[in-house]
Amino acid sequence: MLPVFHNTLDFARQQDEDDPLQNFRHRFLFPQHKDREVVYLTGNSLGLQPKSVRTALEQELSDWAMLGVEGHFHATTPWWKYHAPLQAPLAHIVGAQPHEVVAMNGLTVNLHLLLATFYQPTAGRFKILCEAGSFPSDDYALETHVRMRGLKPEDTIIEVAPRQGEQTLRPEDILEAIRAAGQSLALVMFAGVQYYTGQVFDMKSITFAAHQVGAIACFDLAHAVGNVPLALHEWNVDCAAWCSYKYLNSGPGGVAGVYIHEKHAMNKDLPRLAGWWGYDEQERFAMKKGYRPSEGAQAWQLSNAPVLLMAAHKAAIDIFEEAGMENIRAKSEILTGFLEFVIRDVAGSRVQIITPSNPAERGAQLSLFVEKNGRAVFDYLMAHGVMLDWREPNVIRTAPVPLYNSFEDVWRFGEALKNALAQ
Ligand SMILES: *Cc1c(COP(=O)(O)O)cnc(C)c1O
Repeated sequence: MLPVFHNTLDFARQQDEDDPLQNFRHRFLFPQHKDREVVYLTGNSLGLQPKSVRTALEQELSDWAMLGVEGHFHATTPWWKYHAPLQAPLAHIVGAQPHEVVAMNGLTVNLHLLLATFYQPTAGRFKILCEAGSFPSDDYALETHVRMRGLKPEDTIIEVAPRQGEQTLRPEDILEAIRAAGQSLALVMFAGVQYYTGQVFDMKSITFAAHQVGAIACFDLAHAVGNVPLALHEWNVDCAAWCSYKYLNSGPGGVAGVYIHEKHAMNKDLPRLAGWWGYDEQERFAMKKGYRPSEGAQAWQLSNAPVLLMAAHKAAIDIFEEAGMENIRAKSEILTGFLEFVIRDVAGSRVQIITPSNPAERGAQLSLFVEKNGRAVFDYLMAHGVMLDWREPNVIRTAPVPLYNSFEDVWRFGEALKNALAQ
């Protein structure tokens, strides 16, 4: 149940006082504007730095300094299996078994690796279904991957678009598109949360529909991970990938992650692009001829782990362990609900919120379409200590992050928006 909102500073401060997660804010470093913390509403693009990241990096730098190559086996967290301690916290965030997840590479690299394994086109079954207007990198990955298999993107990729005059997808239209593609469908590659509109897709029913026509269900969780509740294993999702620098606060260019359902992850016969780090762990350093995959998602690792990035990532996801995804989501629904209320209060019909109003169909983010002078409104806000992001052609994205944003932040944003619109 959402509380009855009031757009006042007193109300916002009372909510902050009652917020069980209020102290987590102090674990993060905020950029400053005129000697004051900015109103940071762009954690969906780059999450703030947890203070614990510096300590974690210093530990690895010190182990490297003291031990040199011996750090592979004798560092505080031995580097040769550095992925292991990240598996449980990541699994809790995405709703998986620890052996179904691994932190590795960048997101787009991982999309290609998952396509290499899970996109196996045949003469009759070769189509890929995705959402129209997906993130450009995903688009380029699909387009080029399909070409590399000798297929034409225009014959292969089906894009599901919102209906005429609508901004977001109707869940039934996605399912209908899957049914319509039927036996020709090899793979569904959908976002969990749409980066532009902030719409959450029903991953459970999309997966079910994909399986009914014999297709694989794969998700890009860039905007979903650490933002909305996920139960990938229970939903029977085949595979997924995400990045760690958005809601997971693991730093610019941070190490990404994948989930592979155990029914696939334990299958050593699946085609893949391999490297030595996915080799059977007991024998990895025997340097033998002939690839033998280990078991679990870790078998998809190619290279030795980027320890510095992984150290930052571990420190950042440990905060999720402490706070608990359920508590984070509970606060998020109220915080974003408050943001919606404040925007309606100060802007009325001058700002259209294109993100669904139903809390089940959105995460932290609200995407705003400003009827007039959107870019000028955005520039005004940025110049007045509110950090947001602008996405062409005409959307301002705002995302109050429950781990570190306060109700007072949202109230301050409302005041700044009021002033921006009065300009
Ligand atoms: C942020 C984001 C990316 C970025 O890709 P990188 O490989 O991490 O640079 C890709 N896809 C989606 C959907 C995103 O939101």
